[in-house]
Amino acid sequence: MISIKSASEIAKMQKAGEIVALAHRAVKDAICDGITTEDLDRIVYELITSKGAVPSFLNYNGFPKSICASVNDVVIHGIPSKDIVLKNGDIISVDIGACYDGYHGDSAATYGVGEISPLAQRLIDTAKESFYRGIEFAREGNRISDVSAAIQQCVESQGFSVVTEFVGHGVGSKLHEPPQVPNYGVPKRGVRLYAGMTLAVEPMINAGKSHVKILGDGWTVKTVDGSLSAHFEHSIAITKGEPLLLTVER
Ligand code: MG
Ligand code: MG
Repeated sequence: MISIKSASEIAKMQKAGEIVALAHRAVKDAICDGITTEDLDRIVYELITSKGAVPSFLNYNGFPKSICASVNDVVIHGIPSKDIVLKNGDIISVDIGACYDGYHGDSAATYGVGEISPLAQRLIDTAKESFYRGIEFAREGNRISDVSAAIQQCVESQGFSVVTEFVGHGVGSKLHEPPQVPNYGVPKRGVRLYAGMTLAVEPMINAGKSHVKILGDGWTVKTVDGSLSAHFEHSIAITKGEPLLLTVER
């Protein structure tokens, strides 16, 4: 069952989303050669809790930390660790969720550490670009796969691949709600979009092949071919016109 949120529910999601955006800014400012992913996790935990919110990912299905910190060929769900030290030239995907007043915001971005390769920069730029190309179609009357197809087309036009095993999702009083929002597909299929639906649209893209594997920790998802991966996500609300970005500062 796909829920349609009221204006007051969407306002709560904007508050949760703003906390997520502030946490992203804090992470972006902190990223440097020598910092550990556990340090970044601590920064986000402190920020989210200082705003009266709860980190959505902490203890979610047993996930042990507040952020997912996924370095280089890690696609998603990297577990922050004091043993993972960032160095110049790395890229890191940081996924952050916060729950405020019963509603979640969920947003991810990939950041460079110091100077990164042109390929890494183009991969990061394409993940973000594909998100914005996709959400041009995220409005009442269109279908989910219109968004999916636009994302896939953008990514593949750059010679990159989309991850198919993991997808975007509805978001609201639960972190993950129906419907699924794939980053691939043909237009005009699947669920029709209505104003008040709230979705986490999140292209996960690889510089090489799309295949991924889950490591023995049960969480960390890596590219099989060892190629770099990038992620970009915002939670959005569908309207009759342009979608409303929820996980932004205002
Ligand atoms: Mg996320
Ligand atoms: Mg998500």
